[in-house]
Amino acid sequence: MNAIQAKLAETQGAIARAARDVRRRPEEVALIAVSKTMPEAAIEPALAAGQRDFGENYVQEAKEKWPSLRARFPDVRVHMIGPLQSNKARDAVALFDAIHSLDRESLARELAREIGRSGKAPLLFVQVNTGDEPQKGGVSPAGVDAFLALCRVHHGLSIEGLMCIPPADQPPSPHFALLAKIAARNGLRGLSMGMSADYEAAIQLGATHVRVGSAIFGARG
Ligand SMILES: *Cc1c(COP(=O)(O)O)cnc(C)c1O
Repeated sequence: MNAIQAKLAETQGAIARAARDVRRRPEEVALIAVSKTMPEAAIEPALAAGQRDFGENYVQEAKEKWPSLRARFPDVRVHMIGPLQSNKARDAVALFDAIHSLDRESLARELAREIGRSGKAPLLFVQVNTGDEPQKGGVSPAGVDAFLALCRVHHGLSIEGLMCIPPADQPPSPHFALLAKIAARNGLRGLSMGMSADYEAAIQLGATHVRVGSAIFGARG
């Protein structure tokens, strides 16, 4: 077992413990190994250990890394977790199995168009800016119910769940709890929340997808 495989196993163990602590089944929580900036040499050991969900932040980087890896591991699922420009919707629908950063109408419109055109439908998560931080992507909590209705009714999109990135300088749990509350009142089960520093807390508040990078691959350069 190499270092990445050891850290992956450690993370899987911590996820299972956090889930069982709150009487959840570990299989209800998908671990997304965030491989942004990591070379194929770092991703290969994770694939060899059976990891199949990976997270990327940049369309261009994903385009360079994943087609060849996907040819060898056809059951991988690549998740777009970074900000997405509307003019990259075509590439994004072609490349990704899930998009966690749907946060504005122009993007909803372009994604709906591409899904209709290509017949390929990635799972969609609406990003919520739970801290209302001006520099951060995401729909404001006050506007998310209306945005979800717009996506579903006007653009005909099927929405899997919600995603958040809590403010770096605050305890994350109130943000996870807020995201869970918004999801519940909108009939959504998917909750993409929790990163290396706080995924256990996120699981205890209902996360279905945790996005863990540095705890598996080490610090990014
Ligand atoms: C980079 C990133 C992560 C992973 O962060 P770590 O702290 O390395 O686990 C998770 N989610 C998003 C949206 C990211 O950009």
